[in-house]
Amino acid sequence: MIIARQKNIKDIAAMVEDCEKVLLVGCAGCVTVCLSGGEKETEILASALRIMRKLAGKPLATSTYTATRQCDPEFLTPLDGLVGEADAIISLACGVGVQYLAEKYPDKWVVPAQDTLFAGGATEHGRWDEKCGLCGDCILHRTGGICPVIRCPKSILNGPCGGSQHGRCEIDKDVACAWQLIYDRMKALGRLQDLTAVQPLKDWSKARDGGPRKALREDLMAR
Ligand code: SF4
Ligand code: SF4
Repeated sequence: MIIARQKNIKDIAAMVEDCEKVLLVGCAGCVTVCLSGGEKETEILASALRIMRKLAGKPLATSTYTATRQCDPEFLTPLDGLVGEADAIISLACGVGVQYLAEKYPDKWVVPAQDTLFAGGATEHGRWDEKCGLCGDCILHRTGGICPVIRCPKSILNGPCGGSQHGRCEIDKDVACAWQLIYDRMKALGRLQDLTAVQPLKDWSKARDGGPRKALREDLMAR
């Protein structure tokens, strides 16, 4: 899922300092799971902004709505009846949701309440780790299900750099060396010989360096 972290409330307030009424829009997708932009966080942020502005002597009116997903236009229709009087929309979704709202309401000032961080998952309560760099050419079948693109800070694809000590990464001792993990897992699976095979060049043309990517499913588009 997409992991996001809410911005400092002072920074959010500054983005709407000229507004008298704002609509806060949460998302029931990834940002609910990582506890940064769901219904609960949306209501808390709305209350906090109201209190801040009241204390500053410049009251702010708020309304709230949490979409099933902000990255899907079909779930944004209910907002049509809510945006009218708002001077601005504060999106608590990832950067995708913010852009969908800005596109749908071109005459509205739409601002992000979140910093969108990475694709990852929970590793313990209250902690999320990056797991995938969305490279477009997955090689996990060759690396024991452990991603060297992201979990090795140097993104080395053909074995360790030589700086690994006692299973830890030389860049950050708090991080396990991805290639040690890959070696250990391939050994446990009896597949070490796979690591000696010459690998084909990774197809970076599918990564994001060439600009925004598209995923087409023509079987669905034709319907
Ligand atoms: S190889 Fe690419 S697609 Fe696969 S997990 Fe790593 S970054 Fe993600
Ligand atoms: S020590 Fe391991 S994880 Fe760290 S940069 Fe070198 S190969 Fe990558």
